[in-house]
Amino acid sequence: MTRLILVLGDQLSDDLSALRAADPAADLVVMAEVMEEGTYVPHHPQKIALILAAMRKFARRLQERGFRVAYSQLDDPETGPSIGAELLRRAEETGAREVIATRPGDWRLIAALEALPLPVRFLPDDRFLCPAEEFARWAEGRKQLRMEWFYREMRRRTGLLMEGGEPAGGKWNFDAENRKPAAPDLLRPRPLRFEPDAEVRAVLDLVEARFPRHFGRLRPFHWPTDRAEALLALDHFLRESLPRFGDEQDAMLADDPFLSHALLSSSMNLGLLGPMEVCRRAETEWREGRAPLNAVEGFIRQILGWREYVRGIWALSGPDYMRSNGLGHSAALPPLYWGQPTQMACLSAAVAQTRDLAYAHHIQRLMVTGNFALLAGVDPAEVHEWYLSVYIDALEWVEAPNTIGMSQFADHGLLGSKPYVSSGAYIDRMSDYCRGCAYAVKDRTGPRACPFNLLYWHFLDRHRARFERNPRMVQMYRTWDRMEEPHRTRVLTEAEAFLGRLHAGEPV
Ligand SMILES: Cc1cc2nc3c(=O)[nH]c(=O)nc-3n(C[C@H](O)[C@H](O)[C@H](O)COP(=O)(O)OP(=O)(O)OC[C@H]3O[C@@H](n4cnc5c(N)ncnc54)[C@H](O)[C@@H]3O)c2cc1C
Ligand code: SF4
Repeated sequence: MTRLILVLGDQLSDDLSALRAADPAADLVVMAEVMEEGTYVPHHPQKIALILAAMRKFARRLQERGFRVAYSQLDDPETGPSIGAELLRRAEETGAREVIATRPGDWRLIAALEALPLPVRFLPDDRFLCPAEEFARWAEGRKQLRMEWFYREMRRRTGLLMEGGEPAGGKWNFDAENRKPAAPDLLRPRPLRFEPDAEVRAVLDLVEARFPRHFGRLRPFHWPTDRAEALLALDHFLRESLPRFGDEQDAMLADDPFLSHALLSSSMNLGLLGPMEVCRRAETEWREGRAPLNAVEGFIRQILGWREYVRGIWALSGPDYMRSNGLGHSAALPPLYWGQPTQMACLSAAVAQTRDLAYAHHIQRLMVTGNFALLAGVDPAEVHEWYLSVYIDALEWVEAPNTIGMSQFADHGLLGSKPYVSSGAYIDRMSDYCRGCAYAVKDRTGPRACPFNLLYWHFLDRHRARFERNPRMVQMYRTWDRMEEPHRTRVLTEAEAFLGRLHAGEPV
């Protein structure tokens, strides 16, 4: 009896659990480009194009390996509107009575598959280094789920950057060496760009025709779309940028969107690269003396630590996580996130780069767009929808904990011990944005006062009951309380006026 083997657009791994369970002679692999997946949020056109192009290439790879693949293209009138509809159609065509699927990384899709009038057997997604059940065991009984403790456990378990049971270099974490600003450098290596082949060009035309109103520029498109390209991108990053990764990890430059970042998240999230192979390759660069330990540790921590940790949080927390709103924020996402011009140079640069490249690095996402949304009291569900839409690497399991937990502190402190909020001083220290801004980062009040300065104190003041006893925030409240009363009143009044204009949709 034929069974249907479902392969989703982010499950493009040769050793996927559903494919391992398949009998190539009897079973039928189902892959489908459906409108629902392209529109449940308005995904960036480059993200849709990447997933469709990578799916088409992976389907061919499966056929070459001897699998029978039923592939439905978006422009085929027979193609149904959703994954569920496509599974039912294939079941009817073949008489299949069971679907085998690797568990999706999206609660919406899990619910849709569970609701089908066709049994779906989920297999664990074992492409992660920490299985969801192990994460749940680690989390059990802990008051706080701190990434740092999880990360150390993962280092011990995998042996990555370990020497005789101790962390390499005598320290678990070299972050103190990794918080430097960066200067423009014409010789800084650029990420590898892949020119679209005929197959990718056909997908670009399709996306252009079908999703004309989605925010974001489709071209130029340079992302790796198959494993061979992803491996080239990895080689290039390890050789050219990894040595500087640590030093430049937190820096931001108006004219350099990539600095020394890897641009590997989309390849890893779609399954073209495995997290362990990426970590091992980076470790080898250090062991063979080609990259310093602070860079390699910083890079491995992002994958072995953060990536695995947020996946564990997502799996543990269930679908309600996406509705968390621990600070009770309710404002609408300001139109500047969708491209309304703003005089704030940092936000303008981060949003323009997001529109053009479907990419911003971690500190831009956390300390510019995320920080501003949090300070402005935006509903975390709207912030979540934005991040899920606009980035090339955005999938619910990784995006939601980063946005709702880390960036918006909406999960009641499950993921972070304090909110990531800052005044303009942090952005000024870590970037060159403020030099080209209409606002003055040193002004605390007045017509040119940097909005981050106003909103930072407004945030602390309005959430005093929640945070004033947080040991990591006591100092901030002391500083605020030491300011003269007339100054504090003026800050709050100007912040209110700014928020009034922002939330009325006026340009700021
Ligand atoms: C609000 C917000 C939303 C985010 N949404 C996503 C998302 O949808 N998808 C996504 O993959 N990452 C997300 N991140 C994490 C991070 O910003 C991206 O992984 C990173 O910018 C990808 O670019 P890169 O490959 O050049 O990463 P690099 O800076 O070069 O880091 C190397 C790798 O580490 C991993 N990594 C780094 N930080 C994180 C993190 N916090 N969580 C998980 N993995 C991490 C990624 O796989 C990345 O490729 C988000 C962060 C924030 C603050
Ligand atoms: S002055 Fe303020 S708004 Fe302008 S770039 Fe600096 S931090 Fe951003």
